[in-house]
Amino acid sequence: MSDSEGLEEVKVVVVGSGFAGVAAAATLVKAGFQNVLVLEAKDRVGGRVHTTKPFTDKVLEVGANWIHGQKGNPLFQLAKQHNLLSKDPSTSKSMCSPHSVTSKDFFFKEDGTQVSKKVVEQVCSRFSKLTDKAFDDELARKHRKMTLGGYLDDAFEESTEDGQMVFEWCKRIECTDEACSSLYEVSAAQSSEYIEPEGGFFNTLGLGGYRAVLDVLLKDLPTGTIQCNAEVKTIQWDLIKEGESEEHPVRITCQNGQSYDADHVIVTVSLGVLKDKADTMFKPSLPQPKLNAIKNLGFGTVDKIFLYFEEKFWPDDCSTIQMVWEEGPEDEDVYKASSKGDDWKETWYKKITGFDVVARHPTALCGWITGREALHMETLEDSEIRETCVRLLRTFTGWSVPGASKTLISRWGHDSHVRGSYTYVPHRVDGVEEHKALAAPLPPKGSEPLQVLFAGEATHVNFYTTTHGAYMTGVREAQRLISYHSD
Ligand SMILES: Cc1cc2nc3c(=O)[nH]c(=O)nc-3n(C[C@H](O)[C@H](O)[C@H](O)COP(=O)(O)OP(=O)(O)OC[C@H]3O[C@@H](n4cnc5c(N)ncnc54)[C@H](O)[C@@H]3O)c2cc1C
Repeated sequence: MSDSEGLEEVKVVVVGSGFAGVAAAATLVKAGFQNVLVLEAKDRVGGRVHTTKPFTDKVLEVGANWIHGQKGNPLFQLAKQHNLLSKDPSTSKSMCSPHSVTSKDFFFKEDGTQVSKKVVEQVCSRFSKLTDKAFDDELARKHRKMTLGGYLDDAFEESTEDGQMVFEWCKRIECTDEACSSLYEVSAAQSSEYIEPEGGFFNTLGLGGYRAVLDVLLKDLPTGTIQCNAEVKTIQWDLIKEGESEEHPVRITCQNGQSYDADHVIVTVSLGVLKDKADTMFKPSLPQPKLNAIKNLGFGTVDKIFLYFEEKFWPDDCSTIQMVWEEGPEDEDVYKASSKGDDWKETWYKKITGFDVVARHPTALCGWITGREALHMETLEDSEIRETCVRLLRTFTGWSVPGASKTLISRWGHDSHVRGSYTYVPHRVDGVEEHKALAAPLPPKGSEPLQVLFAGEATHVNFYTTTHGAYMTGVREAQRLISYHSD
């Protein structure tokens, strides 16, 4: 087959309209495929990219916020090419992290006093060097087999009480990057498989937010390509073998009873959804290596707590309020003691790292929380979460903090179409092998080809967790089909 000849006959269904699904569909359509349908469970496109305007006419990102890295990052290039990056330096806020800490980040203790800027700077700088070692694959032999938390405890030398508290905060922030409950559950050595494209790490988007980047891809899709409110229930992928269909080997059936026959299906649902539903979704069931990958890779929860105040109560030279605890959840002893039982639920709020002023919302703060504490928080009423956060802000800062007039709290862990936030590699898991097994198309090599293909951030060996990783996997699977049909 040459060029796009015959491609109009090929039926492809894409499950999910996050960056992976939309990138796959756009790539196929561009190559001349005329029969592409995207089935999306939600009533909106974008998946873990969710740009919204709940407080003012300015956008907020409930999911992904930044484009991470520049060089070789196709989403950065796309955003740049279409003039979608923010040019206003005041909006270019990064999350407060050990790598990016500045004098505008205020670190408070429980008694309302501040940790000195010098201690914060020193601890963050040493912490960053240690995590860089892990990410750059420069760990000493004895550290390679450890958890990330274990390695950091062993390598970090700190004698002052304040320094220890800031160190615990650094580990809590690192949990947000890893989307894990605790660094004592994450592999130290495997961190090096994750690659950050060069250039600034926190690239902020312009007024249209992440949705504007997605729109660039969506505009290439013919009307009707995406069907929302179409949750896929089952994927039967051996119909030709069973003799049930002469024409198409795959049948996709939705919860609403609609079914679609196709030559290929590209599954882009999150790893969380696969963990929840892979057992019942695929007929015949998935091969064992794929099931192992779904089980072994980690999929953690990161949530955002947006608090909107009628007036700003923090000084002009403050852009984030961080909280350090005498006994924080990432202290090794505290973590070990809380591994058993449910007592940690009583102090779920200790996992909140702090509150950052939100870009373009001068009176709004965003709190970050991860792991089992985030999942627990999701079960609470908004009002309880809001009051807890305001109480924390009052206790830690000692400032006159008014009540928050509006809130927006993400619940990614309990979202049945996502079931978490992003992927991590747990301790003692071979991330490379498992990402590859997750990405492998079905049936396995040697039998009928390419009925089911897999994309989505979790299927990328190096760029998992990110939007650009998701995008690249969508393009990868589309290219796989393009090559197959041009042979
Ligand atoms: C709080 C948070 C902050 C983040 N911050 C960043 C960031 O700053 N930068 C960054 O690069 N990344 C960030 N990420 C990660 C990034 O959002 C994801 O890696 C990326 O968006 C994943 O895209 P995807 O297409 O792989 O999956 P998804 O976006 O999850 O898309 C899968 C789609 O499948 C749909 N679906 C699920 N089940 C079914 C079904 N049965 N039938 C039909 N459709 C179904 C879902 O509704 C969803 O739309 C963040 C994520 C979260 C949650």
